[in-house]
Amino acid sequence: MAKTALVTGVTGQDGACLAKFLLAKGYRVYGAFRRSSTANFWRLEYLGIKDAVSLVPFDLQDMGSIVRVMKEFRPDEVYNLAAQSFVGVSFSQPLVTANITGLGPVNVLEAVRLVKPDTRVYQASSSELFGKVQEVPQNEKTPFYPRSPYAVAKLYAHWAVVNYRESYNMFCCSGILFNHESPLRGLEFVTRKITDAAARIKHGLQDRLALGNLEARRDWGYAPEYVEAMWLMLQQKDPRDYVIATGATHSVREFVEAAFSAAGLDWQKYVVSDSTLFRPAEVDLLIGDASLAEKELGWKPQTSFSELVEIMVRADMERVSQRA
Ligand code: NDP
Ligand code: GDP
Repeated sequence: MAKTALVTGVTGQDGACLAKFLLAKGYRVYGAFRRSSTANFWRLEYLGIKDAVSLVPFDLQDMGSIVRVMKEFRPDEVYNLAAQSFVGVSFSQPLVTANITGLGPVNVLEAVRLVKPDTRVYQASSSELFGKVQEVPQNEKTPFYPRSPYAVAKLYAHWAVVNYRESYNMFCCSGILFNHESPLRGLEFVTRKITDAAARIKHGLQDRLALGNLEARRDWGYAPEYVEAMWLMLQQKDPRDYVIATGATHSVREFVEAAFSAAGLDWQKYVVSDSTLFRPAEVDLLIGDASLAEKELGWKPQTSFSELVEIMVRADMERVSQRA
């Protein structure tokens, strides 16, 4: 019998990549999406898997909808990737973020506990939990210090997972994933904003790129590799939380330089500073130590920073050139 997986947030970057990964492993994939007035399946279409995923409507804020989905499909594994995932917006919409990103995962945990407690649950935690970092590099034992409403909400969800594991003996775990990108990344995130702008400038469709803090440093990896780590966590004998990262850190400035150079452009001619894009509190430096994941999951990053930049720039150049 094929295993079944429920993936929430299937319309997002990771949900689409994970659905593709699980389908290739022979899973029956239920992709849970929230209803909107305009269909939002472009990532599933881009990956050519829209018809292979069984799409089921739900909302992370409505526990009844998750209970219904659990009862109907009784999945072996649940990957909770749905969230208000953008740090920037969390400052202007802290309560929406708390409700979706913080309380939403508890709706999933409760629905699983009530309907089918032996279902294995993956929760999308984040390196943003480390925020004002307490040590360098960050690993599973590094104390958390969240710096945004998004990170505070993710922290609540993170501890809820620990609590369900310890209270009810459920197989649930969190992946503390550092930033991971791909051509499917949302345009509001800095990497994709930069590669899209480089492509548009190259094709004469845009003449400047406004950015905020260029000095922030992130540990950027390649999303398709990170979804494999999610799956590996749910295949272990015992549940635990893992850091997933490349172990290399680069500044936003370095990303802009590399992306514009890959597009054959001098970034200094186009990038302008916009003070409204600076955040009330910043996460200055993230760099992860994923040695536990390497030891126990056999997971290692494969794609370097410069390869990642090239993949993203190439994809945006192709996409923009088809529309220019
Ligand atoms: P995206 O923003 O691309 O996707 C988020 C998904 O959540 C979308 O499918 C969105 O649906 C869905 N969603 C939001 N609110 C609700 C709701 N109320 N009910 C149902 N669905 C909802 O994020 P990523 O794919 O990049 O990230 C996946 C997860 O991993 C997120 O939880 C994110 O916070 C976390 N994470 C991501 C990292 C990264 O670098 N990408 C790093 C660490 C953690 P819609 O399409 O309708 O908006
Ligand atoms: P995050 O790590 O989840 O917040 O991912 P983002 O891609 O949104 O931001 C990464 C870093 O880039 C943060 O430190 C931002 O402050 C910085 N940054 C600088 N300019 C921008 C911008 O224009 N948009 C975004 N999203 N981030 C920016």
